[in-house]
Amino acid sequence: MLFSELPLANPLQRAVRAVGYEQPTPIQEQSIPSLLEGKDLLGIAQTGTGKTAAFALPILQLLLDSGKFRAPKTCRALILLPTRELAIQVADCFKQYAQFTAISTTCIFGGVGDASQKNSLIRGVDVLVATPGRLLDLIGQKAVSLKALEFFVLDEADRMLDMGFIHDIRKVVALLPQKRQNLFFSATMPDDITKLAATILRPNPVRVEVAPQSTPIERIRQELYRIDKRRKGALLKELLLEHTEMKKVLVFSRTKHGADKITRVLEKAGIKCAAIHGNKSQTRRQEALKNFKDEKIRVLVATDIAARGIDVDDVSHVFNYDLPDVPETFVHRIGRTARAGKDGIAISFCAPDEEQDLRAIEKLTKIKIPEGDKAIFEKLPPPQKETPESEMRNARGRFHQQPRQPKNESRPPKSESRGGSNPPKKASNPPVPQQNGENLHKGKRRRNRPGSRARRRMRESGDTPS
Ligand code: AMP
Repeated sequence: MLFSELPLANPLQRAVRAVGYEQPTPIQEQSIPSLLEGKDLLGIAQTGTGKTAAFALPILQLLLDSGKFRAPKTCRALILLPTRELAIQVADCFKQYAQFTAISTTCIFGGVGDASQKNSLIRGVDVLVATPGRLLDLIGQKAVSLKALEFFVLDEADRMLDMGFIHDIRKVVALLPQKRQNLFFSATMPDDITKLAATILRPNPVRVEVAPQSTPIERIRQELYRIDKRRKGALLKELLLEHTEMKKVLVFSRTKHGADKITRVLEKAGIKCAAIHGNKSQTRRQEALKNFKDEKIRVLVATDIAARGIDVDDVSHVFNYDLPDVPETFVHRIGRTARAGKDGIAISFCAPDEEQDLRAIEKLTKIKIPEGDKAIFEKLPPPQKETPESEMRNARGRFHQQPRQPKNESRPPKSESRGGSNPPKKASNPPVPQQNGENLHKGKRRRNRPGSRARRRMRESGDTPS
């Protein structure tokens, strides 16, 4: 099927040609006709499948068809997303696809001043792309109302719940008019997501599933290097220096502190790179992302939440500098490469204390990751001797609580000092570091309080919800 065969108006067909799409992707082919008929849709799809155009194009077509006009301080279509990066990305897509129409798009998200966002809403907008917190804030300030809404899209629903947005979503849904068309997208459909979808969608929505849950894209070639933690930086540097074909490289680090450390190692070797994580300002993050997209830097180092969903074309290599302790995260990470029909390579480093994470990943993906060329190890400098300080540093990010530091010592940034990562999953995991004979896990554990999972994930990966 070709795009030209879809019943889309000329200005949209022109925009599709301008962005270079010829054939609809499977999710587009399956969703666009039903959405044009006004049906609700449940889409089970990850980013990289072309799902943005799958919902944006029919919404734009229906907005053009309806003949209605936007009223002041209202929007006609609302797209809700969990992070600023995703919101900006989706708004950019709408703007591209609507470039030959008079349809307006505005994007609102937290972490920046709200004055210009309020201004852009005064005359009303056709498409409003928003993160939940800022949307509710601006509704509370009467800067925008949802009373004239015709289309509601909840994107990345599983991630929304992961990040603790369930209450905000319910508040938004309660403000929507009864008569509306709903679209609900999620990469996975566990029970809580299915229940949420049922509260939003009308009965019998069209269900479109484009990739089985948690299955990595088969086109990704994978390699594994078993390596001591202390030598990972040297290995990454060596691989990048040796393989000039690694042009657009995304490196995942478990912690913000780790991400900064990696960039320092690469910068020293003259490799152009930048880091994105929750301790960087929104402006710095956008700048790093833009430089990466424009290939002004070769390597982008990111924590999971900062990177998830970012849409960068042609990522040639994804490095798992640290293995994630949630195996599904691995699937999301490597899905940054091999997008839109292209090939990609994912390279994972596994330290001895990450073997358990590796087993969980291989079990989930049902793929045994082949080992990379061991000859590279010959080129690495010998490992440095472990000092008590480096041992503690290395332990950071794998233990729940950090040791108390004497008052006169400089502390790591607040969010890191509150716990870099999930606790070990089994008692057989690495020994708990001791200080002054005290067990560092001593103290209150707050794991099962409502929302604690979300807060913990955000702390460890370094993103801020908006
Ligand atoms: P998404 O899943 O919406 O984040 O899209 C992933 C990437 O695929 C984006 O870079 C889109 O521009 C691109 N894309 C979407 N639809 C098509 C298509 N039909 N043909 C080629 N590229 C596409």
